[in-house]
Amino acid sequence: MQAHFQDLKGKKVLVTGALRGIGRGVACALASNGAHVVLGYRSRPEKAQELCEALRSLGAEEAHPLRFDVSEYAQVKEALEGYVKEHGPLSGVVNNAGLSRDTLLLRLKEEEIHTLIDTNLKGSLYVIQALSRSLLKSSEVSIVNISSVIGLMGNSGQTAYAAAKAGILGMSKSVAKELGGRGIRCNAICPGFIETDMTKALDPKTKELYCSQIPLKRFGHTEDVSNLVLFLISQASSYITGEVIKIDGGIYI
Ligand code: NAP
Repeated sequence: MQAHFQDLKGKKVLVTGALRGIGRGVACALASNGAHVVLGYRSRPEKAQELCEALRSLGAEEAHPLRFDVSEYAQVKEALEGYVKEHGPLSGVVNNAGLSRDTLLLRLKEEEIHTLIDTNLKGSLYVIQALSRSLLKSSEVSIVNISSVIGLMGNSGQTAYAAAKAGILGMSKSVAKELGGRGIRCNAICPGFIETDMTKALDPKTKELYCSQIPLKRFGHTEDVSNLVLFLISQASSYITGEVIKIDGGIYI
């Protein structure tokens, strides 16, 4: 069931990692609510154009592709500052771009540690920092950072990913404290196992094992996550900031 919030109509919201999975689900849900969606992507411009057209047919007030790799500070800064200069400030940010590499600690390579931290943690910080000055000029601003239950509970084979996702929680609370007085809210959400390419890689036995540990006995759908994101971006959550919200079917009760 798709959530609807009237105040999202015309709201200008950036979604990073928007071409696939949760990011795509969030972009589509925002479009169905009539938002102006800025679609962050790092490669395949033709796919980004196609998705923008799809978002407009879903009801987006506007859909604008914006290419940058979140792990590259200079690219983030140039793309976002350029966008704001031309189109004005955003009032919503969904830091979703991320990746996982399941590797036991003993086999984890230095390069993999850099990729996991640079993408999952530094990427979100780069985006918030690049936009912070312009967000001060906007109103009803809400930032949603996608962390993970793994950042709360840890997981064997996911040490660097967990470190990055846990870092997002401290970052989100700090942003909430620093910018709250300027009307900017910042929250983190922690999905459990959600059906996307990221979890497609799990072998059926592991998937079955995880499912048996989830009280609701299923993996989540992207719509489960996008409904929560819509609520946090909307003013329906106007007194919620610095919060960490799990959306995990109960796996980490
Ligand atoms: P996904 O299907 O693998 O999609 C990840 C998206 O992030 C893709 O669009 C990808 O772009 C983009 N991305 C990766 N690295 C990037 C970079 N350096 N710069 C810009 N974009 C980049 O993953 P997902 O399952 O939707 O996950 C989305 C977020 O939710 C991630 O932060 C993930 O950690 C978090 N999460 C997922 C789950 C889950 O079970 N699925 C659970 C908890 C948290 P390309 O298409 O170019 O690769």
